[in-house]
Amino acid sequence: VVLRVADTGPGIPAEVQPRIFEPFFTTKPPAQGTGLGLSICQGIIEGHGGSIRVESPPGEGAVFVIELPVEAPPVAERAGRAAEALPSVRGRTILVVDDEPEIAAVLAEMLSTDGHEVETAANGRIALARLRERTYDLILSDLRMPDLDGAGLYRELERERPELLSRLIFLTGDELGGETTEFLQRTGAQALAKPFDADDVRRVVQRVLLAR
Ligand SMILES: [Mg+2]
Repeated sequence: VVLRVADTGPGIPAEVQPRIFEPFFTTKPPAQGTGLGLSICQGIIEGHGGSIRVESPPGEGAVFVIELPVEAPPVAERAGRAAEALPSVRGRTILVVDDEPEIAAVLAEMLSTDGHEVETAANGRIALARLRERTYDLILSDLRMPDLDGAGLYRELERERPELLSRLIFLTGDELGGETTEFLQRTGAQALAKPFDADDVRRVVQRVLLAR
């Protein structure tokens, strides 16, 4: 995969180009740049087996070219993951809570295909209303949502229905703050990191359903 990121700025002078990926190299005034941005980019890209370079003819802006290899996961890893598949549990009720309709729909479809009865809720507030009407074997919830977020849902359940906390799995990863990490560590709530694949979700869902 080749990614080209271009701007229309003054470009990068030829004499500076060889140094731009060096850690702490910056052309900005003191205290305005750390000189780490491009160095970190290079580290991440090379960590994925790729490369980054700049093309900047005088006066024509800068183009960063990132090349990343496309590889299938190693066969051994796939086999290992399949081998740890758990026996299938079917016919349970699951509540999927996510403010992104596409994510909720994908999860609902996948879990229905696995033989479960699935309902969705767009935020913690709606989820709570559902949970007051009926019970679910499992709750799969996003963390960042409007109105009542994942942490809020956890708090309310802790107060009203603490027996449900062990059936709650959070979907994390679209938030960078230490707050989320801190919340998960403090509560010991179960979490699945986004982006997740179908097997990750199945494994966690099965584990929680079997533990009940
Ligand atoms: Mg969200």
